[in-house]
Amino acid sequence: MPETAKRGEPESVPCAGTPVAVFYPDADSLRFDKPNDHERNALAICASCPLAARNACLERALTRPIADQWGVIGGTTAAQRKTLIRGRQVASLIGVAA
Ligand code: SF4
Repeated sequence: MPETAKRGEPESVPCAGTPVAVFYPDADSLRFDKPNDHERNALAICASCPLAARNACLERALTRPIADQWGVIGGTTAAQRKTLIRGRQVASLIGVAA
């Protein structure tokens, strides 16, 4: 992982040039019921990302659940992505689009 967060996105996205550590909180501080302060700071950066770039970023993370199982990516915390992935799995099982 490079020292700055780029995630393969264009230089114009807000995380470009931001230290990677901003998006990866200390594991000991993680809560699964709500974002912690560290995650809220990263989520605020993602909130200023253009919607198309944020959606692409999230979609890429959702298709790489092992590689992207930690940190704030695509405007979501790791716990939020796990919930989204579970929702998609259930939707797939019952035959509806998520
Ligand atoms: S959504 Fe967040 S992590 Fe993804 S490209 Fe935008 S700022 Fe970077």
